[in-house]
Amino acid sequence: MTTIAFIGLGNMGAPMALNLVKAGCRVQVFDLVEQSVEQLASQGAVAANSIEEALSGANAVVTMLPAGEHVRAVYLGDHQGNKGLIDVVAPNTLLIDSSTIDPDSARLVASYAQSKGLEFVDAPVSGGVAGAAAGSLTFIVGGSDKAFDKAEQVLKHMGKNIFHAGKAGDGQMGKICNNLMLGILMSGTCEALNLGIENGLDPNVLSQIMLQSSGRNWALELYNPCPDVMETAPASNGYQPGFMTKLMLKDLGLGLDTAAKSQTSVPMGSLARNLFAFHNANGNAEKDFSSLFEFYQSKNK
Ligand code: NAD
Repeated sequence: MTTIAFIGLGNMGAPMALNLVKAGCRVQVFDLVEQSVEQLASQGAVAANSIEEALSGANAVVTMLPAGEHVRAVYLGDHQGNKGLIDVVAPNTLLIDSSTIDPDSARLVASYAQSKGLEFVDAPVSGGVAGAAAGSLTFIVGGSDKAFDKAEQVLKHMGKNIFHAGKAGDGQMGKICNNLMLGILMSGTCEALNLGIENGLDPNVLSQIMLQSSGRNWALELYNPCPDVMETAPASNGYQPGFMTKLMLKDLGLGLDTAAKSQTSVPMGSLARNLFAFHNANGNAEKDFSSLFEFYQSKNK
């Protein structure tokens, strides 16, 4: 039986870990939030009180953490003297990080893992919480051919499309490009829907029109930002995440950092980042990112 240590049981990690349980793996789970660990344990996972406990007897590790700083601390150790998991895992343990982080951090972790004879892949995902629950995520993987082949055997239980983007860090690069596009598409979708509503159109009808027209996109199709158009979207559930505004802001920042390093122009991404930065600063950091729709709505009419 495959034993997997799963670290980070937030909006994405919890449903991903549950799919590994359903696939028959022994899944040893850890999160800083005890309640999240207990919730998973009640669904068939094995609760761990620390990362080291989660690693015991594991053949593979999956991490699903917020940002690069968390991933570096968990894999490489922190300034409080805690050892990184690379220094404590058993030989031959496969390491998979599915968080969205900067490619440099992913490469740093990959090279330290390699120096210890361990296989590591960066394997960020696309598909949101619904995709995580349905086991239909897209994985965008960076790492060696050998590491990719091994990782595929674990990732197939959580996703439908598994792409090998290239070497270490390239999975993150692919994901950053995708989310730059998503930030732009969500902003545009909010803007167009609000323009129609302000001019007397019914958002349901307008959504249907654009879905059958050239404005069709993922945000409109699966994640409509206007409340009560799509029952399953965060917009119809008080903008509970989902994908938090602060995480979209982080991802657009990663896109802009990457562009600065390669001297690439990203004017649309830059505008989208500023929109999300305003929205984030206005008390919406923990709301779903589709709540950007509220930024457009006129309050004084
Ligand atoms: P989240 O904030 O809901 O979950 C992160 C979890 O990591 C939290 O439960 C937190 O307690 C835990 N954590 C942080 N540091 C830890 C540590 N040292 N040890 C153990 N646990 C720790 O975030 P999320 O929405 O699940 O996203 C996770 C990653 O996936 C992010 O990088 C995000 O950008 C990316 N992502 C999210 C979505 C989405 O729709 N939510 C989609 C694709 C990718």
